[in-house]
Amino acid sequence: ARRKLIAGNWKMNGLRAAVAELDDVLDDAAGAACDLMLCPPATLVPVFASRAAGSPLVIGGQDCHARATGAHTGDIAAEMLADAGAKAVIVGHSERRADHGENDALVREKAEAAWRARLTAVICVGETEAERDAGRALEVVARSLAGSTPDTATAETTVIAYEPVWAIGSGRTPTLDEIAEMHAHIRAALREHLGEIQGIGVRVLYGGSVKPDNAAEILAVRGVDGALVGGASLKARDFLAIAGAV
Ligand code: 13P
Repeated sequence: ARRKLIAGNWKMNGLRAAVAELDDVLDDAAGAACDLMLCPPATLVPVFASRAAGSPLVIGGQDCHARATGAHTGDIAAEMLADAGAKAVIVGHSERRADHGENDALVREKAEAAWRARLTAVICVGETEAERDAGRALEVVARSLAGSTPDTATAETTVIAYEPVWAIGSGRTPTLDEIAEMHAHIRAALREHLGEIQGIGVRVLYGGSVKPDNAAEILAVRGVDGALVGGASLKARDFLAIAGAV
């Protein structure tokens, strides 16, 4: 069975004072019945990683450049995140795709960059509201997944996050049946593209308005291997409540 993973994505939130929240998470991390990951902004990765060292909490970045070095002002290489103590990085979040024009081919290169630096790649896919309304959600997600995920992905190196764009930060979520249907669809695609062993081992998280209130029912959906949590990961109490719902 796949061990569940609760991952927090702080997005562009968090100043140094936020180590207080991290410390509260660390106080409870050892007792968690699941794997835990927090992805603070890049400025906080070094201090978070050094405080979390030796604990079960993995610290990750939110994006990386595909190249290891070079003339790319403002970008951060996977190697730099690893050097700062990160063990993972989110790639292809819908906010990167929308705000920075990232496409599936680039996301795939970023996943490979993550592996090059020995980071776990958390690859995000998800449909827009218009795509779901048009009855195209399954098809759109399968195509984006295939384009964004290298065929050499393994259960150790890769996590998939299904995040419907319209559910992010909106307080709205798909029905539990819709989540189950999408996760089954993603699982079938992974088995086809990665082979049976890796295709069954890679974890598939749900993301989009996961809160302490709805975490238990979402995490109990067949095929949901954890959650990628935005807003509710900013407060240790909420993040730990979601982890406690596993
Ligand atoms: P919210 O949990 O704030 O909806 O954000 C989800 C998300 O985008 C996590 O990556």
